[in-house]
Amino acid sequence: MTLPDAEAWAVAQGWPRFRGEQVWRWVHDRGARSFDEMSNLSRETRAELPERAQLGCLQVAEVQTSQDGTRKLRLVTRDGQSIESVLIPDGDKTTQCISSQVGCAVDCQFCATAKMGLKRNLDAGEIVDQVYLAQRLLAEVEPTRRISNLVYMGMGEPLHNYDNMVKSIRILTHDKGAGLGQRRITVSTAGLVPKLEKLGKEDVRPNLAVSLNAPNDAIRDEIMPINRKWNIGKLLAALKAYPLEQRRRITFEYVLLAGVNDQLEHAMQLSKLLRGVKCKVNIIPWNPHPEAPYQRPARAVIDAFQAECKRLGMPTYLRTPRGDDIDAACGQLANRSNGEAIVPLRIRKTAPPLPAVD
Ligand code: SF4
Repeated sequence: MTLPDAEAWAVAQGWPRFRGEQVWRWVHDRGARSFDEMSNLSRETRAELPERAQLGCLQVAEVQTSQDGTRKLRLVTRDGQSIESVLIPDGDKTTQCISSQVGCAVDCQFCATAKMGLKRNLDAGEIVDQVYLAQRLLAEVEPTRRISNLVYMGMGEPLHNYDNMVKSIRILTHDKGAGLGQRRITVSTAGLVPKLEKLGKEDVRPNLAVSLNAPNDAIRDEIMPINRKWNIGKLLAALKAYPLEQRRRITFEYVLLAGVNDQLEHAMQLSKLLRGVKCKVNIIPWNPHPEAPYQRPARAVIDAFQAECKRLGMPTYLRTPRGDDIDAACGQLANRSNGEAIVPLRIRKTAPPLPAVD
C-alpha cells in the first residue's frame, strides 16, 4: 500500500485515518514485520490487526555470498515463486539489484533469466519487501552498512510491470517511509518505447538505464528480439525526447559478446548512434552461464573496445563482474544455487528490526 492506500484502508476498517499512517510508518519507516512491534498502537488494535491485514510478502530462502562480498538472496513469495535480489558492496556504498518479475518475457538471448520465461509480475509489495529484507540481513551481518542505491536490474523487465514498478518507487521514496532519494534509484529497460514515453510524464524521476548491447539493428534484432518491435531508431527517438533532469545522463549498458558486438567498427557505429544523447556507456563483458551460446571476449579485445569508445569521445566504463562465482552477476539470475537450478528451499527465520534505509 501507498500511504494514501493505508489511510483509506484504516477508514474502511472504521478506524481514524491517522491509524493508517501509524501502521504504514511502522512498516516502511521502522521496518516492523509483526504487529506486536507497533508499540504506539493500543493493545486491542494490535490484537485486531492480524485478522485484517498481512505484513511482509517474502521470505528469505537462501543467501549465497561471493568471494568478492556480493550477496545473492533467493526470496520466496507467498505463492511459492522464487526470485533473486543481489547486494553489491562497493567501498562504503551498497547497491541492491532488485527483481520486478518472476522470470522475464523479453527473451534477450544472452540472459539466463530469459530462459525462465515470464511466470508473473511482482506486486509493489513484493518489490519493496526485497529492500526491507535485504536491509535487515545487512543489519545482522554488517550493522554499519546501509543500502545506498537501488537498481531495477534483477529478474524481469521493469517497464513490463509498469504500474507496480512506479508504485514501488513512490513507496520507497516517500519521506515518511524509507525515504530513498530518487537519484539513488535506477530503472533499467530493454527499450519498451511506449512505456518510456509514459515514464517521462510521471512525477517519479528515477535514473534511466537502457540495455542496448548492439551498435546496429542487425545485431540487436539477433540478440534482443524486442528490437524487431521497437528498433534502435525508435528507441533513441524516445530517449532524446525523455525529460532528463539537469546533470543527469542515460546509462547505456553494452554486454560485450565475443565475435558478435565487440569489434572496433562496432564502437565506431555506437559512437555515431549516441551522438547528441546525454549518456554514458557501461561495458559489461558477458557473464557466462550454461543457457546461452556466447563467450566473454578476451581481455585484450575488451580493452581495445573500451579504448576505442573513449577515443571516440564516449564516457565509457568497464564493469567488473560482481558475484559471478555465485551466478549473481549481470545476466546470470535464474534461481540457481551452486550452479544447479532451484534447490529445496531453506527457509530461514527473519530477523531483528530493520533500521531506516538512508
Ligand atoms: S536482460 Fe533483462 S529484459 Fe532481457 S531477458 Fe534478461 S531480465 Fe529480461
